[in-house]
Amino acid sequence: KNARSSGERYLFYAPRMNAALAARLALENELQAALELEQFELHYQPRVNLQSGAIVSAEALIRWNHPAQGLVGPVSFIPLAEETGLIRQIGAWVIDAVCAQQARWRANGGQIIPVAINLSAVQSAQPDLLSTIRGAIAKHGVEEKYLEFELTETAVMNNPDEAAHNLAAMKKLGVHLSLDDFGTGYSSLAQLKRFPFDFVKIDRSFIAGVDTNPEDAAIAAAIVAMAHSLHLRVVAEGVETRGQLDVMRSLRCDEIQGYYFSRPVAADKFEEMLRSGMLLPPSEPGLHYHI
Ligand code: C2E
Ligand code: MG
Ligand code: MG
Ligand code: MG
Repeated sequence: KNARSSGERYLFYAPRMNAALAARLALENELQAALELEQFELHYQPRVNLQSGAIVSAEALIRWNHPAQGLVGPVSFIPLAEETGLIRQIGAWVIDAVCAQQARWRANGGQIIPVAINLSAVQSAQPDLLSTIRGAIAKHGVEEKYLEFELTETAVMNNPDEAAHNLAAMKKLGVHLSLDDFGTGYSSLAQLKRFPFDFVKIDRSFIAGVDTNPEDAAIAAAIVAMAHSLHLRVVAEGVETRGQLDVMRSLRCDEIQGYYFSRPVAADKFEEMLRSGMLLPPSEPGLHYHI
């Protein structure tokens, strides 16, 4: 009876499992082809200093310009790329593309600002990461201080020794390092202080309620204070409203990134934004938050 029921289960599930596997394999092949066909592109989202109101850097965010589906966001393909190891090639493409873009902006006579590149867990433990970065820097003649690398605490904690080794070497090279999506994992800033980060990016799940939920505001305030005492600069991710902006400014957060100022935009649009000298509106005088 057991054998028979497991046989039935097999018959029931097998076609669906094969369909899921087939879809996965198809996506994997498509991703590989996308690299060769140069279907990936980068969008840039500005980061704004809260004191000057000026754009001080940008985060490069990958999109897949799919021939049938249009622009596909990274959450639809980065996880599979990580599982299959394709992230190594995609990641190397991103590093090269950012350096190439920096060189084009410089050739156009524009202002040069640091660009932040996201690194997945696989990449942050990769032994040849440093040589990939060095190679792209040399090829495009980019200054190290104009590159920043973002890693999440889970990426770092997955392979703490390999990541620590890579981060120390990157820091020595002169690029900036940031801790992305902070607050979503289980580590404390104290545990993370062995890694040479320059910036902490507070995850947008805490920023969302910062002007309405006292607990989110308390968490954001604690992260800013702790980060500053460890000599880290703080970026608030996902600022969408004036209220969130004002709270983060009153907490002495250093920078913000989010739809309130701008969504991620194509490279030429970003260049135009920089050139126009677009500024964040100042706070209203006398506005105070008591948290
Ligand atoms: P992330 O590094 O935390 O990037 C920030 C994400 O938040 C981006 O989503 C951005 O578009 C979105 N965002 C920014 N401001 C706001 C806001 O005000 N409201 C809301 N709701 N969202 C906002 P995106 O571009 O879909 O990227 C998602 C994730 O994919 C990134 O999260 C990053 O983990 C990963 N990713 C993106 N590009 C790359 C890449 O080149 N390499 C790797 N390994 N991962 C990447
Ligand atoms: Mg990021
Ligand atoms: Mg983030
Ligand atoms: Mg995120």
